[in-house]
Amino acid sequence: MATTLITNGKVISPTGVQPIDVLIDGEKIVSLLSPGQAAGLGIVADKVIDATGKFVIPGGIDVHTHFELPFGGTAASDTFETGTRAAAWGGVTTIVDMSLQRYGENVLDGLATWHAKAEGNCAVDYAFHQIVGGVDEESLKALTYLTENEGITSFKLFMAYPGVFYSDDGQILRAMQTAADCGAMIMMHAENGMAIDVLVQQALARGETDPKYHSLTRPSPLEAEATHRAIVLSHVAGNVPLYIVHMSAGDALNELAAARHQGRNVFAETCPQYLWMTLEETLGRPGFEGAKWVASPPIRSRDHDPDFVGQMGHGHQGDLWKGLRMNELAIVSTDHCPFCMKDQKDLGLGNFSKIPNGMGGVEHRMELIYQGVVTGELSLERWVETCCTTPARMFGMYPQKGIIAPGADADVVVWDPDTKTHIGINAKHHMNMDHSSWEGYVIDGKVDTVISRGLTVIENDEYTGRKGHGKYIKRGLSQYLV
Ligand SMILES: [Zn+2]
Ligand SMILES: [Zn+2]
Repeated sequence: MATTLITNGKVISPTGVQPIDVLIDGEKIVSLLSPGQAAGLGIVADKVIDATGKFVIPGGIDVHTHFELPFGGTAASDTFETGTRAAAWGGVTTIVDMSLQRYGENVLDGLATWHAKAEGNCAVDYAFHQIVGGVDEESLKALTYLTENEGITSFKLFMAYPGVFYSDDGQILRAMQTAADCGAMIMMHAENGMAIDVLVQQALARGETDPKYHSLTRPSPLEAEATHRAIVLSHVAGNVPLYIVHMSAGDALNELAAARHQGRNVFAETCPQYLWMTLEETLGRPGFEGAKWVASPPIRSRDHDPDFVGQMGHGHQGDLWKGLRMNELAIVSTDHCPFCMKDQKDLGLGNFSKIPNGMGGVEHRMELIYQGVVTGELSLERWVETCCTTPARMFGMYPQKGIIAPGADADVVVWDPDTKTHIGINAKHHMNMDHSSWEGYVIDGKVDTVISRGLTVIENDEYTGRKGHGKYIKRGLSQYLV
């Protein structure tokens, strides 16, 4: 097997930043050495990567992607091939995609479809969560079966999208009870979809059809209410582990923090778009351009929604960064769900409720959260913890993934803090979209080299990986519970 030595870099883990040389043999990290120690031991690696002045971090793990997801009469525009290649460009070496079962469909069929989409196509490793869009006897049996046999230990339910993915409170409770019995985790899209649908119909009746009304008809109290309700149901269901996906609002964060203060197994992620984007600068743009940023939960106002003041007073973004620092929010994912403007987003011309929900970000999460380190929101250690290590622990992949340690998979990113990254459709952009959700953003750092299970996939601004290198990762139960 070929050996690689990454030398002269600073290795970042959740507990510190240290000068360490990393020796890789085949697909695994085999030893951590003090700088120069390899020469003293007579180790001659097949390949040496000089990381002088650079950071060496575990490969990023994005635990929330939707490749090829059917939605709103179309499908997310990244395939597993294009999406995992873009992930590699972004320093991400494992993605966890959402396998889909809709009402009336069989869970095992849904999973087989997802395996067929991914197998042989991925540039980096992949795992699945299972969306349960129709809770009934059959799907609940499948939930237990997948947990015990298929390496899928987390199940996403929706309190939004009535008629598509929605589960009512009784269904949610039953799924939670089943998950509690077999040790699985419930992931929740927490927005009160029934109330939102009323606000949407009222807005459309008033002739309010522009993209910005997508956000204004999904006010943050309806995310906070659903978050609270999910927490209560999880408690009643036997303290089943609950993970709130894509948290976007300060008032929802308050509900989460209160539950965590009570010692509950309740966790959440947020996404770069909620940390960096505002309604005013995105959805609120004139004409139809705002459609680029239609996603749910929505990009929120710079300040707390004017009708719902009384929160912490520094806007949703300030709250979310604080939550990330304090470990109220454990993980940053992307909810990567890209749609092109042409023939996809434009299905909603003249009616914001018909715009496919989602934006692309799998390529830029490591960059955008690193920028939070530059601006003083997070430490280097916390960047690695929220983007690499906790995702592995939360979803049962540690220590195979998420850490630079002997025995771990050789998923390693060399990060250059001294070179800027310009994001945009004519700059850095490898996702299958006709625009960039992050057009014009400039990052004070750069993905330099990316290694996926020992294979160099990004080097010298070139993709050197290959389709089919990525393997399916069977996950265990969460290793993050209190
Ligand atoms: Zn969702
Ligand atoms: Zn999602």
